Amino acid sequence: MNVYRNLRTHNYDINISANEWIEILSLPKIQDNDNMMSALEKWYLAPEYTASCKSLGERYGRDHNFFSVQNRRLGQFAVKHLNQFRLIGDSGKETYWGVAWIELKKEKGIYTVRLRPELVDAIKALGLFAQDTDDAVNHYLQKHDLSQEKRFEFLHEKCEKPTLLKRTTESYPRDPIASKRALCHAEFMCEFDASHDTFPRMIDGLPYMETHHLIPLKYADRFNISIDVPENIVCLCSTCHNRIHYGRNRKELIEYLWSLRKNDLDEVGINIDLSEIIRFYLI
Ligand SMILES: [Zn+2]
Ligand SMILES: [Zn+2]
Repeated sequence: MNVYRNLRTHNYDINISANEWIEILSLPKIQDNDNMMSALEKWYLAPEYTASCKSLGERYGRDHNFFSVQNRRLGQFAVKHLNQFRLIGDSGKETYWGVAWIELKKEKGIYTVRLRPELVDAIKALGLFAQDTDDAVNHYLQKHDLSQEKRFEFLHEKCEKPTLLKRTTESYPRDPIASKRALCHAEFMCEFDASHDTFPRMIDGLPYMETHHLIPLKYADRFNISIDVPENIVCLCSTCHNRIHYGRNRKELIEYLWSLRKNDLDEVGINIDLSEIIRFYLI
């Protein structure tokens, strides 16, 4: 057990790797902790992952203590989970400040700190916050409190047409019959919640629904039989389908659909447990 003491600043030379942070951030007690995730997200969205509790409190209309308490808690979870080191602060007692952050400066009792780069990498790898959010949107999130009505102004710049791109990608052919069977199996109702609303399809007036491979097809090589089978295809309304791909609380959906299908998957020889399927979505 390494013990780090630091009496002057909150900087400790600890080495938590990005993979260890991925492990820590994947712990259910962290994933399901809305306050901790919310505080971490605000740090992550701050310019250069740098802010003070005070500035975040002012920007998001919260008590600054909220951000320091959540940071300490995340640090505590990380230290307990790794069980490799302890930090001793100026009071001579164990501290969890400085686990997730690096202190940059202290002025009039206000600490300006930056998220550790390995933690930032882990957040990116897990796609925890603002996944697929482009720079313009990140900029917007950084600059504006979302309660304020501010918007991007058009620049009215004429742009040259880009050259046409030819792409070649490899993929297993998909069986169109398998997804139609899955729709019929679900009787064209959302399998997460049958009451979810949709609209009639242009072609035949049946309720419009989308199909989704519960075990994503990109993991086809993990199995020695096809996973493009009706047992692995769920019927979802558009909102739930987008939620399972991009939603913050998609774990709830995955768990529910998994419980619905695990016996059927077993029947066709697709053996997978819940933790593995969740990992497929996380990474
Ligand atoms: Zn999908
Ligand atoms: Zn739905």
